[in-house]
Amino acid sequence: MKKKSSYNYNVLSNVTGRKSFGSRTPDSLSEVKRRALIKAAIIPFVLVIIFCISIIVGSCQKEDTQKPQNVEKETSVAQQPKEKAKQPEKKKEPQGVDLVNPVRPAPEKFTRNSKMPNKQEREVCGEIIPSKFSAGRDLIYVTDSRVWWESDNDGENDDECDHTMHRAMEIPFRRLVNLVQAQTDLQLRVQETYRPEGVHSQKSLHKEGRALDITLGYKNGEKLKTAEEMRANYELLCKLAWQAGFDWVFYEYGSGTGPHVHASVNANRPYLTKNK
Ligand SMILES: [Zn+2]
Repeated sequence: MKKKSSYNYNVLSNVTGRKSFGSRTPDSLSEVKRRALIKAAIIPFVLVIIFCISIIVGSCQKEDTQKPQNVEKETSVAQQPKEKAKQPEKKKEPQGVDLVNPVRPAPEKFTRNSKMPNKQEREVCGEIIPSKFSAGRDLIYVTDSRVWWESDNDGENDDECDHTMHRAMEIPFRRLVNLVQAQTDLQLRVQETYRPEGVHSQKSLHKEGRALDITLGYKNGEKLKTAEEMRANYELLCKLAWQAGFDWVFYEYGSGTGPHVHASVNANRPYLTKNK
């Protein structure tokens, strides 16, 4: 029993590390000193290692935070050519211009209330500037027997002339007439062109004859009859107007106006007809 008790005490001493002071021998004192010296030597060494590790980790984190900046910089540089490519191409349509073939590929879709390009009209065509617009200089009379003109069919009560449009409209308009003739069995209907006053907003390009509202109908002069016909054919008309070279095409489907295509141009386009 005594032996067992002594064993338990030794085990307890080893676990706790506690020993009575009086039990230390010279050997154990030198052991304590040796351990203290080792600790004194190790602690600065460990501190130096921790310091080095913290510097390395800090520099890695700095690199990580710099990476997104570099990526952003690279991205912005890489995007520059794309942004340039997105800008509207410069229009160089010389005299003897091709009025038959499309100038652009057809978009895959042209849904209601969508526009091409997908920007504000004024960004593409420029705003109306009354001081720079001259009706006598800028407006021309355009006609084509293949087209149905609303003002020719509205009787005497209508004093508008839908043949009147800005000279910058002529090239894409004549091309559109040819594209409609070539690609459909329908007739282009011009519902609205130049209107200096009245129904349009103050900034409407109709006030300079730089916008027109068009639809499609039957060649006998009748309107399309069903909503399905309109849906399919007005989308086609949007695509053809875009292919014809209008600068901005909008498939209008508001509640106030019937569905129609609004196509407009920038004033700084080549002209086919020049007023004297
Ligand atoms: Zn319009």
